Amino acid sequence: MRRTHRDIDYDLRRSGRHKTASLYIERDGKVTVIVPDYLTDSQIDELIELKRSWIYKGLAEWRDLNASRVQREFVNGEGFPYLGKFYRLRFVERQSAPLTLSGGYFCLRSDVVNPKAAFRDFYREKGMERIPGRVAAYTAKLGLEAPSVRVMELKNRWASCSPNGNLTFHWRALMAPRTVLDYIVAHEVVHLVHANHTEAFWGTLDRILPDYHDRKEWLRQKGAGLAI
Ligand SMILES: [Zn+2]
Repeated sequence: MRRTHRDIDYDLRRSGRHKTASLYIERDGKVTVIVPDYLTDSQIDELIELKRSWIYKGLAEWRDLNASRVQREFVNGEGFPYLGKFYRLRFVERQSAPLTLSGGYFCLRSDVVNPKAAFRDFYREKGMERIPGRVAAYTAKLGLEAPSVRVMELKNRWASCSPNGNLTFHWRALMAPRTVLDYIVAHEVVHLVHANHTEAFWGTLDRILPDYHDRKEWLRQKGAGLAI
């Protein structure tokens, strides 16, 4: 349900399963609020009021990130990023895989119906070749066993760490330069030890990736441009 409190528009969802309220800034910049069933309208207003500055900060960050957002077209010559470099798209007739990277071009077979899916599959496959080794390198630094790794589409985040310690990475991370991809990996590896972004979290990250600040900043500024 669409609601407005003073100047804040949001989508309200009531849930019997949620014991506490949660607020999100969605990928499209909309605010979503999920509350337990029993909250009254005025309690919800109070909650929004309490979270006002958080919502404003979140929306400002969203605008920052999306200023550099791009819409790529699947036409000859369009550039697509892979590990921080751009490669132009070229349509080809004969090729067994739907999409390959060869001779400095992304080569897309011209009979491919869903180019976006072909790109997604390409990045996912490359991710599965590269990321598990990087994860192992950083878990070794912390004396941890390497967890299982998946690459798929995630909502609103670059990676996630499940409660049982499996790591999932967004295929979009493969568009980032290697150094930034390493930051995404190291960041998630530290979540195996620290669930939240506490001081201890950043301290441990600093230990395994001392120059993470610049990479983090790169991702903050340019992350939205890593899209198809
Ligand atoms: Zn994190």
